[in-house]
Amino acid sequence: MLDLQELSLNIPDTVKKRVVIVGGGFGGVNLAKKLSDKYFQVVLFDRQNYHGFWPLLYQVATAALEPDAIAEPLRKMFDEEYKDFHFRPVRVTHIDPQAKTVTTLVGDLAYDYLIIATGTKTNYFGNEQIKHFSFPLKRLPDALNLRSQLLQSFEQANMTINE
Ligand SMILES: Cc1cc2nc3c(=O)[nH]c(=O)nc-3n(C[C@H](O)[C@H](O)[C@H](O)COP(=O)(O)OP(=O)(O)OC[C@H]3O[C@@H](n4cnc5c(N)ncnc54)[C@H](O)[C@@H]3O)c2cc1C
Repeated sequence: MLDLQELSLNIPDTVKKRVVIVGGGFGGVNLAKKLSDKYFQVVLFDRQNYHGFWPLLYQVATAALEPDAIAEPLRKMFDEEYKDFHFRPVRVTHIDPQAKTVTTLVGDLAYDYLIIATGTKTNYFGNEQIKHFSFPLKRLPDALNLRSQLLQSFEQANMTINE
């Protein structure tokens, strides 16, 4: 496994306008597919290497579907039809709007246009009790944690001696 310092974004220089999209969810992917490589170089960053169909996350959490039924590799969604498209599975940590650069865990990149499509976070409305005792359901790892808890609870219920 390489150290992050040994990696670089490796995005080719271009004379076209560079559009950097942060987030390969519904918003980011739909926009990236609509931008013409005749005019733009499109760079997509996502901290995950897959696009998820979150409306079916409940089905993964309840073991009705496996994770790969609702997740598709981002790289696979952009085949050779997208010639000047570059996906990198990296987390964006900082944006400098004056310098027009984004910082990722493996380096910086200059942009002409920046799209932030990073979705949302679970909102507990300031209630620490709910945050402590509940399970969030926004991402695949959340669904797998919840699934594990549900299945363990059923197994324990099946073995309980308390009527
Ligand atoms: C359980 C569940 C059920 C839902 N059901 C429905 C429904 O029935 N109907 C409906 O219309 N909507 C539904 N939604 C809402 C819908 O999924 C969202 O509105 C939609 O996914 C938002 O799209 P988005 O592109 O804004 O964000 P997302 O799809 O969340 O994508 C954001 C992307 O940004 C990436 N990202 C975030 N931060 C960074 C970073 N710093 N660096 C790099 N990448 C980053 C994430 O990895 C993610 O891939 C549901 C959502 C959930 C969680």
